Amino acid sequence: MLRNFFAYYRPYKWLFTIDFSCAILAALLELAFPLAINKVIDDLLPMGNWTFIVWACIALLGVYVVTAFLHYIVTYWGHMLGINIETDMRRKLFDHVQKLSFRFFDNNKTGHLVSRMTNDLMDIGEIAHHGPEDLFIAVMTLFGAFGLMLSINWKLALLTFIIIPFLICLSIYFSRKMSHAFSQMFADIADFNARVENNVSGIRVVKAFTNENHEMEKFAINNGRFRKTKLVAYKVMAWNSSISHLLMKVISLFVLGCGTWFVIYGQMTFGEFIAFVLLSNVFLTPINQINSVIETYPKGIAGFRRYLDLLNTAPDEKDDLDAIDVKHLNGDIEYKDVTFGYEGKGKVLSNINFNVKRGETIALVGPSGAGKTTICSLLPRFYDIESGNIEIDGLNIKGMTMQSLRHHIGIVQQDVFLFDGTIRENIAYGKLNATEEEIWDTVRRAQLEEVIHDLPDGLDTFIGERGVKLSGGQKQRVSIARMFLKNPPILILDEATSALDSETEVAIQKALNELSQGRTTLVIAHRLATIKNADRILVITEEGIIEQGTHNELIEVGGTYSKLHNAQFQMG
Ligand code: ADP
Ligand code: MG
Repeated sequence: MLRNFFAYYRPYKWLFTIDFSCAILAALLELAFPLAINKVIDDLLPMGNWTFIVWACIALLGVYVVTAFLHYIVTYWGHMLGINIETDMRRKLFDHVQKLSFRFFDNNKTGHLVSRMTNDLMDIGEIAHHGPEDLFIAVMTLFGAFGLMLSINWKLALLTFIIIPFLICLSIYFSRKMSHAFSQMFADIADFNARVENNVSGIRVVKAFTNENHEMEKFAINNGRFRKTKLVAYKVMAWNSSISHLLMKVISLFVLGCGTWFVIYGQMTFGEFIAFVLLSNVFLTPINQINSVIETYPKGIAGFRRYLDLLNTAPDEKDDLDAIDVKHLNGDIEYKDVTFGYEGKGKVLSNINFNVKRGETIALVGPSGAGKTTICSLLPRFYDIESGNIEIDGLNIKGMTMQSLRHHIGIVQQDVFLFDGTIRENIAYGKLNATEEEIWDTVRRAQLEEVIHDLPDGLDTFIGERGVKLSGGQKQRVSIARMFLKNPPILILDEATSALDSETEVAIQKALNELSQGRTTLVIAHRLATIKNADRILVITEEGIIEQGTHNELIEVGGTYSKLHNAQFQMG
């Protein structure tokens, strides 16, 4: 894990080197101060020469100015190093998450992922900066001060040192406990975020069911759990700081008591004694420092562990090494013996066989849950099939890069997702560099012109999260507009009109008809008009594709389709 961590320093070698050197220099100067005092008291004071003392003070002032400068570098540049590393990690994680598969997102909560990308990495920057530097300097000052104390009076130094192993054991013990508490705390925060995310995105349902109290209770449980975990962490922190504080005071007392005894019995000069007391303080500072590292370190490490965990999750669907970038597809689709099931579920599809010629429109009809949507999500490889083959233009889709494959497929769903932003941004999502003319052209083709003219800011109207400020039919038309811009040769329409009232349906049907012109289209539909116009109809039930043919053929056969048809479309 440490090697993984240090890999992030690589781009900032220079920053690290400068910061590290300045920090070491500052620490060395810190050590020099007690020695200077020793010199002043024992050598210069008895000579009674003021000028020497004044010069000594001026020299010390110089040292302080330099130290201040070094501290500035260490604080600012060191934190720059930390924040750079934190930013890199966060970007890397976001990039990685973009590549994860549908299966991953099916099984992970949005709030958890948000938490990982924001909160969990919050302390990493601090650790990246302070971790190695503080530890190194602490150890260095510890040894330096101890060496100097030994040289002044080895007996007193050894006596002082007896307590150190206790302090170290204590620190390790508390650090472990804290690390555990912080891991738990991150998990709690993630749950927290997930709960809030879920609540806010579902707030309209909450209110409609007047279940606010129920939501508040559930939230209170999370909140209480978080409080408990955090209290555990603080308790450990409190024990750690109070005990180590006590031990340090004991050391000071020890030095004071034994030191005066040594001075009285002539084993030590007065100057040596003062230097020793000051050094013992220098000696205790790194212990304090290590203690504060121990407080942030477990937090950073707990976050880093969770970061690595997520970073090491591989996408289920990946490009083969020799996958080709397809530049052009005509849209001849063939499913050969396709078998597929979702994780933890039995087979949803077994030995599915059918083909669609370029430009043809195929309707998939059948009871809910039969697997119509699933059949369609296999084409852009949202999920990989277990066995069989799916080919486009005679090429196995697994032999194409996922990007190029998906570039050629457009999906319009019943459940439209629009991004928070303007209508323009949402339409241009189909082609990021679309010109104004292209956008207006698609607006017209998607029957959106009137809608946009009526909006206060036209194309630049903000539509709210998920497009809440638009009606269902308007949202649907925005999603059709962006598909016009994407202009894929293959189109999947998954119940794109089923949630609409009949008036908007006419407009949308018109837009969809135009959209599917010249494209291979798979349409999952309930509306008779759509089905009737299809070149072929596949009837899908849990047994697979049980009938296929044109509307008239299937009615004539008098099988499942005609029964479904009679039940659903009596008015047609
Ligand atoms: P249809 O579109 O015909 O109504 P679906 O293809 O959506 O049916 O679903 C087929 C079956 O697969 C259903 O039993 C459904 O519960 C299940 N299913 C659909 N999506 C998922 C998923 N992401 N994870 C697990 N099971 C799923
Ligand atoms: Mg479906």
